[in-house]
Amino acid sequence: MPAPVSAPVAVATLQQLDRLLEGLDGPTLQWLSGYIAGRASLTTGKPPTTTAGPTLTVLYGSQTGNAKRVAESLVQRASQAGLPVRLVRADSYAQRELKQERLLYIVISTQGEGEPPDDARGLVEFIAGRRAPQLPELHHAVLGLGDSSYPEFCAIGKLLDERLTSLGSQRLFARGDADVDVDSVARGWLEQAIEHARQVLGSPQPTSTLPEPPAQNGSQYNREHPFAAEVLANQAITGQGSERDIRHLELSLAGSGLSYEPGDALGVWAPQASELVDAVLQATGLAADQPVEYDGVVLPLRRWLTERRELTVLTRPFLQAHAELSGSEALRAALEPAARDAFSALVEERQVLDVLLEYPAPWSAEALVGQLRPLAPRMYSIASSPRAVDDEVHLTVAHVHYVTGQGPRWGVASHHLQGLAEGDHASVFIEANDRFRLPDDPGRDIIMIGPGTGVAPFRAFVQERSLQSGSGRNWLFFGNPHAYTDFLYQLEWHDALRKGHLHRLDVAFSRDQDHKVYVQQRLREHGAQLFEWLQAGAYIYVCGDANRMARDVHEALIEIAREHGGWSDEAARTWIGELQQHGRYLRDVY
Ligand code: NAP
Repeated sequence: MPAPVSAPVAVATLQQLDRLLEGLDGPTLQWLSGYIAGRASLTTGKPPTTTAGPTLTVLYGSQTGNAKRVAESLVQRASQAGLPVRLVRADSYAQRELKQERLLYIVISTQGEGEPPDDARGLVEFIAGRRAPQLPELHHAVLGLGDSSYPEFCAIGKLLDERLTSLGSQRLFARGDADVDVDSVARGWLEQAIEHARQVLGSPQPTSTLPEPPAQNGSQYNREHPFAAEVLANQAITGQGSERDIRHLELSLAGSGLSYEPGDALGVWAPQASELVDAVLQATGLAADQPVEYDGVVLPLRRWLTERRELTVLTRPFLQAHAELSGSEALRAALEPAARDAFSALVEERQVLDVLLEYPAPWSAEALVGQLRPLAPRMYSIASSPRAVDDEVHLTVAHVHYVTGQGPRWGVASHHLQGLAEGDHASVFIEANDRFRLPDDPGRDIIMIGPGTGVAPFRAFVQERSLQSGSGRNWLFFGNPHAYTDFLYQLEWHDALRKGHLHRLDVAFSRDQDHKVYVQQRLREHGAQLFEWLQAGAYIYVCGDANRMARDVHEALIEIAREHGGWSDEAARTWIGELQQHGRYLRDVY
């Protein structure tokens, strides 16, 4: 087959392609065209142009990468099924296209107190708002992602699903509400999604016999197949007397083929501590070695509890089952829809073991495994630039550790990581975060706001920018309780200031005086200059606690714009919304 001379690829590439395709039968070639179109839509966000007729649009809004991962998997499966499909991140979606859609799937997470992810704020406002068009010709389905330990579980998914229906769209099948163990709900939802899409779009191809596309990132390691990374260093970076134990960890990715960019996160799979598993076994009176079958997998109970189940987080489904089994009125009352505060207090202050001890119940091993939430990996913002540390990856980890009425408790991954010695291994994978990237133009100034361990990605940013030759300045705001014990990476920042890699550093040590001082106070104090930097094109980044800090910082930025721009509240909010839309105000918060 001669290569067409007008093709936008080199003749040699086409000849190579011809060699690869030689001898393939019709259905396989058809499948490949769908696969390639889907791959193209993954990178361009545009619908495949090779196929006439309606297209499946998959929209996603993702904060930590889970919704993005599920949406990508959906698009890959749809391509494999020969369906015309495109993948679009919510903030890249041209809203005027909504009324032309015929088949729309939305995969979207809900943050903290019922907020959309940052990349979907505009889309959610548009669909929920008065400007949304009637959609009588649309078919849709929604997969919500959330965390059932929060009262507003999957609120954004619900809102969109209901709103689209009220605009006249036909809901193709029931919404999925996926908990932190996303895949146990996502799996079934994806299957239905493909089946319904084939009915609506009329696919000629079966889905089941097609091979999985190659792994991303050029590595065989991913979330399902993590890499055993050797620990090269594990140092406390809070001083003696600090209320926090914060660690700087260095892990080796040598030989993994894994690569990352500043702004990405490292996923960590951590087993439960053996003393916690022992205590749960004792509290339930169940035998450690009894085999338990669940979802077609048979393992001894101890292994289920150690490797596959959450013990340090309480969820509504588990509490509901436990309230039934224990017959506890107090627990039942805390689960009433009106008892939001009691429920929040319960999940914030207690763990599974506390509930087992406080309200004894006759659990069977099978029921316990069935009701506990599957263990999920924890994400840590990476604190290094690969250009500066080669095949290492660095983390800043606060050991979550506290005492309840029943004894010491901890967070599963931070406890595991703080206990690792040099030479030990951690199971890890890379979670890319395209929403938290340095400006392409190294001549742009950047402002980084990262109190506590939220400073981690900014260590990566400063490392990276120190290796670029651009003229952009770097301004860091950091906060923690005490300067003496909690000034994370103090020497590195001073060194960077001296070398001209960091241009400004403003700190807020909250407990070094008799009143609290937070980063947003420093922002206000330097409001004029900060506003000037932003008006001149600077990017602003926030990382850390979503519920309090990121909200307060957001309000402080609006106040600064009002004061120094001489604007009304509405104008200041529009300005900050535009910064966000243009990708110059980026947040990595949870
Ligand atoms: P933290 O609890 O956020 O405390 C750091 C400093 O912030 C302390 O001085 C604290 O003061 C202060 N602070 C408290 N409330 C604040 C508010 N409303 N506004 C501004 N500052 C405030 O630090 P951390 O324990 O290291 O935790 C960081 C948080 O960020 C955690 O929630 C963690 O999960 C999250 N985190 C998220 C990411 C991410 O999204 N990628 C990465 C790292 C960390 P006081 O304690 O004295 O009140």
